[in-house]
Parts: sequence; C-alpha cells; structure tokens
Amino acid sequence: MADYLTKSVTKDGMFRAYAMEATGVVDEAQKDHRTWPVSSAVLGRSLVASLLLATSVLKGKETMTVKVLGDGPAGPVLVDVDANGHVKGYIHNPHVDLPLNKHHKLDVGGAVGQGSLEVMKNLGGDEPYVSNVQLVSGEIGDDFTFYLAQSEQIPSAVGVSVYVNEDGTIGAAGGYLIQVLPGASDDAISKLEERLKSIPMISELFLSKQKPEDILKLIFGEDNIDILQNMPVEFKCDCSKEKFGKKIAGLNDKEIQAMIDEDHGAKVICNFCETEYNYSEDDLRELLSDNQDSKE
Ligand SMILES: [Zn+2]
Repeated sequence: MADYLTKSVTKDGMFRAYAMEATGVVDEAQKDHRTWPVSSAVLGRSLVASLLLATSVLKGKETMTVKVLGDGPAGPVLVDVDANGHVKGYIHNPHVDLPLNKHHKLDVGGAVGQGSLEVMKNLGGDEPYVSNVQLVSGEIGDDFTFYLAQSEQIPSAVGVSVYVNEDGTIGAAGGYLIQVLPGASDDAISKLEERLKSIPMISELFLSKQKPEDILKLIFGEDNIDILQNMPVEFKCDCSKEKFGKKIAGLNDKEIQAMIDEDHGAKVICNFCETEYNYSEDDLRELLSDNQDSKE
C-alpha cells in the first residue's frame, strides 16, 4: 500500500487532524543515504514532520525548506517539501551510532542535540519567509509542535515515529498533526492530551496494519471524524544531469577549463538522493561554450 496522508476535522469542530503513513518515504531515504538506525530515525522523523507541517500550512505551488540545526553527532538535517506531498532530505552524518536512550528507544534527541529549527517558506514572493525556534528536545515531534505554537501561532500536537527493523531496514514510519481550532474547550483539549499519551506509538500502529483513518478514529472516536481528503506522499528528488550542468556552467570559465585539463571530467553527487552524474570532457566543453555564448 502506497503512503498517504489523511486530512480530517472532528465533527464537533474543535480539531483539525492529519494522520500519515510514510513507511515508503523513510524506506527510500534510508536506502538512498544508507543510514544507520539512529540516523534513519532522525532523518525519517524530520521527513515525516516536514510533510505534516507543509501540507497543513502551505498551499498550491508553495514550498518549504526545513533545517534541524543541532549540535549533536547527527549534524544538520535538511528537508525540502511542498504542499502536495513531495519530500526529499538528507542528514549530515548518516552513520550515527549511539546506545538506546533511557526509554529503550533510538536516541534521536541525543543524536540531534541542542540548537534550532529553521523553516524557510517560499510563498512565491521575491524573498523567502524565514523563522527560527530553539529545539525543545531534539526528538523532532516536540520541536515541530513548539514551532507551530511560536511561529505560526497554531496550538498543535505533532507526533512522529520511525520503527527500524533489526536488520536496519524501515519497518514502519508515520505521524499525526492535530491543530486546536478556536472553538475547542479546555476540557476537550485536556482529554485529547490524555488520549495521545495512552495510544501506542504511531509506527507500531502502522506495523499492525492500521491505516491513517483508523488512527484518527482511535484518537477522536469512530463517530467524531469527518474525512476531508486522502493525499499520496512520496520521497521524490527532481535532480537531473541538465540541472547540475547549469550549476557547473555557472562557475567561471577557468574552473571549468581546469576540470577538462586536469580532471578530464567531473562528477556530481546529489545531496538529496545520492544519484551520481558524470560529465565527460565533451560535456564540459559544451557547458563552457554555452557559457561563452550567453556572455557574448
Ligand atoms: Zn537528487
């Protein structure tokens, strides 16, 4: 079953709630970047949370770049995501190796460390809109919850989780994002908080073959959910030999000439998907002449 996000509102009008399975998204990221379990969880949770955030606050052709900038061994994590469920991302250190934390879970907070969460929204204007919050715990879900409250003024709860199998492959991944709407009562909010504490980890629910709709019903009750939309989500990189070629052509002519004379070609590896592109001496000469044409 392909990954998808379910958008819903509660019938009492108090909450907007999204639940998403993203096992395929995180599996693709794990394979592309050959991440070890702790890094898989850090990158996977970041991809899941970014998808939930982008699909809830962006619209149309808007896009977002999310950076988790911690001082821990994982190093920075960078995610690009759009309003339509496409995401790509990478982690500085794909091979973080840490013991389990005190809850016997992968130590995501320890791998991320302290620092900030930066969100850059491209809303179609000349300048992106950038905002920054401190990381709360580095566990990612808390950090995105804090960002939504601080920067978007939307009281929310974000839960994300990634289950890594014994052999390092991805067993399940996904998350939820719940926004508190203006009409919500204090009583309903505290009941929701209790409920969220009592349900199993979301990746465990997906492991046991639950669907995003089932999770929304589990949280709010079978009869209190109006499903609005199911949207496919996927890990998708839009890189190509042509796009990287344009970047090479943007270098100065001397640098390109040196690639031809000294290196006899060039190799570029995409940060987001690890695809390798090779440029022969002829390819480079063509980029160089394109360059000279455009400067004349
Ligand atoms: Zn790529």
